[in-house]
Amino acid sequence: MTDKKIITEWGNPDTGLSLRVNHIIHEEQTPFQNIKIVDTLQYGRMMILDDVFQTSVKDEWMYHEMIAHIPLMLHPCPERVLIIGGGDGGCAREVCKHDCVKQVDLCDIDQRVYDLSKEYFPSIAEVLLHPLQKLHIHTGDGIAFAGKHADFYDVIIIDCSDPIGPGEGLFTKEFYQSAFKALRKDGVLVQQSESPIVQQSLVHEIFNAMNTVFPIVRMYYSHVAIYPACLHSFMLASKKYDPLTDEARVELLPDMKYYNKKIQKSAFVLPNFIKACLYEGKYSF
Ligand code: SAM
Repeated sequence: MTDKKIITEWGNPDTGLSLRVNHIIHEEQTPFQNIKIVDTLQYGRMMILDDVFQTSVKDEWMYHEMIAHIPLMLHPCPERVLIIGGGDGGCAREVCKHDCVKQVDLCDIDQRVYDLSKEYFPSIAEVLLHPLQKLHIHTGDGIAFAGKHADFYDVIIIDCSDPIGPGEGLFTKEFYQSAFKALRKDGVLVQQSESPIVQQSLVHEIFNAMNTVFPIVRMYYSHVAIYPACLHSFMLASKKYDPLTDEARVELLPDMKYYNKKIQKSAFVLPNFIKACLYEGKYSF
C-alpha cells in the first residue's frame, strides 16, 4: 500500500500495477493472511490477500473462465474435479457449468475467504451462496486434502495464491507427485503460474518442477487486467491428453466473456520470448 488513494501490487521489486481506490471496505488478519476488500475506480470491488490483487468484479471472468474451461474441455469426460484454493467461488462457478461433472470438491484453507466472498462478492460466489448438490465445500489445507486421494480425480485445478504464505507448498515437486497420485490415469492438472513477464524465473521453476512429475506440461496464458503486466500464465500438466495435438470437447456454456473454442487452442501458442524462458531458461526481463 502506498497511500490512502492508490494501491499497488508489486509483481517484482521494480514493477507494480497501481489502482486508485474509493475506500477500503473491509480489512482483517486471519490465521493465514491479511484480507482487504477495496472499491477501485477502474475494476470495481476487489479482494487483496497479503497485498496481492486476487479478483475484481469487473475482470474476474478473464481468470476464472480460463483456469476452469481449458483443462475441463481438454478432458473428454471429466466427472470428478478438485479445486484447491479458489475460496472466492469463481472457479467453482465455472466448473459447475459442465453437465458431465458429477462431483466438485472445493478446498480453501481460509474459511474467512469463503465468508467474505459470499458477503461482498455475490456474483463471483454465487455457487457458494446457492450450492448445487455436486459441489462439496471443504475448509483445510489443499495439500493434505489431495494427499488423501489416489486414482480419484479427472481434473485438479490449483486456484491458489502466490508461492509465499499458505500457498507455498502448492508449488513444490512433492505436492505435484501427490496430485499425480490423486489423479486418474488420464487426469489433467492446472495451476495458476504467475506472470510470464514480471516473474519469468518463477514461471520457469514451476514448469521444470511439473516436468519432473508429468509426461506432458504445457503453458497457456490469458489477459488478466488486475495482475501486474496484465498477462497471466497457467501451467497444464497431463498424464495423457496433449492440448497441442488432442481435440477438445465442444460444449456450449452459458455467459462466456473470454473463453471460446478457438482460444482453447490459441492460448497455447506461445511467443518466442516465452518459449525461450520455458525451454532454454533465457529470461528477457
Ligand atoms: N485468482 C487468484 C490469484 O491468483 O490471484 C487466486 C484466488 S483464490 C482467492 C486463492 C486462495 O488460495 C486463497 O483464498 C487462499 O486462502 C487459498 N490457499 C492458499 N494456500 C492454500 C492451501 N495450501 N490450501 C488451500 N487453499 C489455499
